[in-house]
Amino acid sequence: METGLGIRQENLKESIIINPETNEKIVKKGDLEFPPRKVWMKTFGCQMNHHDSERILHHLKDLNFSATSELDEADLVLFNTCAVRDLSNNKFYSQLGEIKHAKKKKNGLIVGIGGCVAQTEGKELVKKYDHLDFAFGTDVIDTINDMVFRVYAGDSKFTINSWDRSENFSIETKISHETPQAFVNIIKGCNKYCSYCIVPYTRGKERSRLKNEVVEDVKKLVEYQGVQEVMLLGQNVNSYGKDNGESLAELLIDLDQINGLELVRYTTSHPYDVSDELIAVHGSAKKLSKHLHLPVQSGSNTVLERMLREYTVEHYLGLLEKLRKAQPEIVLSTDIIVGFVNETESEFQATLDLLDSAQFDSIYSYAYSLRNKTRAAKMVDNLSDDVRGERLRYLQKYQLGIQEKIRAKLPGTEHRVLVEGFGTMGGIKKWRGRTNCNRVVHFLPESEEQNLKWNWVDVKITSATALSCQGELLNVHGRRVLQ
Ligand code: SF4
Repeated sequence: METGLGIRQENLKESIIINPETNEKIVKKGDLEFPPRKVWMKTFGCQMNHHDSERILHHLKDLNFSATSELDEADLVLFNTCAVRDLSNNKFYSQLGEIKHAKKKKNGLIVGIGGCVAQTEGKELVKKYDHLDFAFGTDVIDTINDMVFRVYAGDSKFTINSWDRSENFSIETKISHETPQAFVNIIKGCNKYCSYCIVPYTRGKERSRLKNEVVEDVKKLVEYQGVQEVMLLGQNVNSYGKDNGESLAELLIDLDQINGLELVRYTTSHPYDVSDELIAVHGSAKKLSKHLHLPVQSGSNTVLERMLREYTVEHYLGLLEKLRKAQPEIVLSTDIIVGFVNETESEFQATLDLLDSAQFDSIYSYAYSLRNKTRAAKMVDNLSDDVRGERLRYLQKYQLGIQEKIRAKLPGTEHRVLVEGFGTMGGIKKWRGRTNCNRVVHFLPESEEQNLKWNWVDVKITSATALSCQGELLNVHGRRVLQ
């Protein structure tokens, strides 16, 4: 069978041999031998990209690569790129430039780029940058080993960015770490074509995995890999199942039955696809997080129309009301794009008004930046970047005031958190955990030596600001919560 790489797939099976003298593992693939090597990978952008990177690293293990954070040690450098925002795009280009020197210093260093930028601009970049060996799009990451093989076989300067056209979107989750948290991709692509967004062009049409496949996948993660918390991923995650007659609500009900699974989160949702069934599940599913991130983008109906968002502010606020009724403890967050094409003062004011009405616990806010190939790129835009910057700063300050008031009610409340790590604050080591409703809490351990990583603990919030919560450790449940 052809892989699309111009190489016969039966030649590409990996097998393992052990060097009798050094006892070193060697992987054989086709005519080539792969001794242990290192891959340095830099990921930009969203959780989907981070999840894809995990998948890539998992595959590369089969080709005898292990991950390194030291660029000097790397035999293979991979960038997983993001085309959604200027900031990550600029960072990627500056790092790609720096890698040129690393390649000059190290003979045989291979450099590849994947992700959204590679999907749309891979060919041009491979042509433009001499030190770039190959580029690969978002739908071919599962063939990474064949691509790396191809470069080692002497054939570089290629781009593979074809779309997967198989009937079903079917994958098994691959994780390359041993933690109780896992990303699970349930739908890829997006059919919405919001006027500012490049994602439908970089990730293609929506395609959902079958519900039973996802449920079996999660059961295996729980049973064999100790996973306790899953984040269901999709560019438009609550559109899940529209292409095959299933739904996110039904999937969440099934996942709620899995023994040993403690918590289910999902992201990112579109308000248009929040169904009444899904809202009801927020009230009934025991394992579903009491946090929902629901991007609104603007509080002005005229801006939402220009953005092609397919809902009004009134509809959005109605959804929040229904969600809060179904699940009174729900905590809501959102995304805001400030300064969309020709945004007027009064349209901006409408977004501030929405922040007052919605009472979000947190927001991610950005100044609009033009993305080539999108519909908004064709609109004549008279708003200056200075005005955008000013409005963004004002909005962020405004929201912090709201958050401060919301969080002032938290001291005294008790929460079960999964401890994710620790940090040093003012020279004092504090552990950090995430509540069911996605707030991060910092707290002191019982002793310097106590290792709480990946333990479930109970904490009482002692103080809270707009941006962080401090707590007091009450109980340690260990790595599993006993039911
Ligand atoms: S729904 Fe999200 S991913 Fe899809 S086009 Fe709109 S902003 Fe982009």
